Amino acid sequence: MRASRADDLPAISASLRVLRGSLCFLSTNATGDVVSTAPILEARNLARVFAVRRSGGLFGRPAQLHAVDDVSFDLAPGETLGLVGESGCGKSTTAKLVLGLLAPSAGEIRFEGAAVPAPGTAAWRALRRRMQMVFQDPMGALDRRLPVGAQVMEPLAIHGLGEAGARRERAQALLEAVGLGAHHFDRYPHELSGGQRQRIVLARAMILEPSLLVCDEPISALDVSIQAQVINLLLDLQEKYRLAYLFISHDLKVVRQISHRVAVMYLGRIVEEGDPDEILAEPAHPYSQALVSAIPVAAAARRRPRLILKGDPPNPVDRPPGCAFHTRCPVATARCRDDVPVLKALGGTRRVACHVAHGEGGSA
Ligand code: SF4
Repeated sequence: MRASRADDLPAISASLRVLRGSLCFLSTNATGDVVSTAPILEARNLARVFAVRRSGGLFGRPAQLHAVDDVSFDLAPGETLGLVGESGCGKSTTAKLVLGLLAPSAGEIRFEGAAVPAPGTAAWRALRRRMQMVFQDPMGALDRRLPVGAQVMEPLAIHGLGEAGARRERAQALLEAVGLGAHHFDRYPHELSGGQRQRIVLARAMILEPSLLVCDEPISALDVSIQAQVINLLLDLQEKYRLAYLFISHDLKVVRQISHRVAVMYLGRIVEEGDPDEILAEPAHPYSQALVSAIPVAAAARRRPRLILKGDPPNPVDRPPGCAFHTRCPVATARCRDDVPVLKALGGTRRVACHVAHGEGGSA
């Protein structure tokens, strides 16, 4: 029997939901082409706990170190998310979780719409071609005994792709794409400058045509003049290949230059996320305020007094209860000592985890 109109409604509304879901992931680029903006990477409630021993060597009491705690974010093709925070805040552990180099203690990573397979499996190795990492120290990432051309080609050989001639051709094309010439092919890492070595690392990361690059402090080991060149190269490569970047840095100013969105991390959690310009102009979380105030600017240009935090970040093994920042926060209230603030919207695209920023701090 033919279903009545009313009977059809749930099916129609389900189809509309699917259609609406797909449409909201479509947009037009600068040339007017319709492109997908569905997230390439989705991190959901990621956590990573390490079992450690407190001081006392073998006889120290076992403890848990929460390196990453309830971290969620999305990353679209061609987008850069900057992860910023002081060392030990969980940025690099988040990168390793994303790449499957560490298994999460809780939560999930989805890449191109599917859950990332278990590390070490054939499916994971195939997927890793699409997600590459760029490390901080290019000299440490390269083999000093091998010419750089051979190192750029190496991932093709590891994955059994192409014949020797085609691999060489592809490597030379990549060297050109990162601003180097064919004459660099047979050079050794020690014969190149720091910036040239980082270009080699980028060429090697690009040779498997990834859609995601995880860049862990990729310019912090370089001279300031070279940093700008590598940032420009990353921007060019992103535009050309529509790469997504997870860009990790302790330097908010550097992150601003390259990121579409910024997530500020403190003791394993994201405490503020949003547009980099907005966060730099008007940071909402007291920790972001301290980071912004630490950026060197001419005294006349400084808009607010310098905010210097007291003390060091707490040991992640002894994470303070409530808001983990309350031991250093200049505006902490009684509530901050007990209640963990939730990362939630604060107007526009900004999300902040702070009772006081949301006007819910209560009395001091
Ligand atoms: Fe400071 Fe409280 Fe906000 Fe934490 S929740 S950042 S302690 S004001």
